[in-house]
Amino acid sequence: MNLFRWKTLSFALLCAGVALFVLCAVFSLPNWALTALGALALCAIMAFPVINLLFWHCPYCKKRLPWKELAREDLETCPFCGETLPSRSKEETPKA
Ligand SMILES: [Zn+2]
Repeated sequence: MNLFRWKTLSFALLCAGVALFVLCAVFSLPNWALTALGALALCAIMAFPVINLLFWHCPYCKKRLPWKELAREDLETCPFCGETLPSRSKEETPKA
């Protein structure tokens, strides 16, 4: 899985977590359901920084890419080494 797919997964989990919290806040659910959904939401939200800390880095120079670059859809080259990052659609791994 390349870094852009990890990024997409982390954003999807973040959105799912927020949606679960909203669900808990809007609907009156039994306590066991609130606890279970709340814990699930917290896990999904916490997965966002964890996934990005682990996988949001350049596959060539291994430096962590800036967090602000997560929001960019047109990120194509590493801001540190200038290498072209693997495309979103292809599974590419660096040669060295
Ligand atoms: Zn790099």
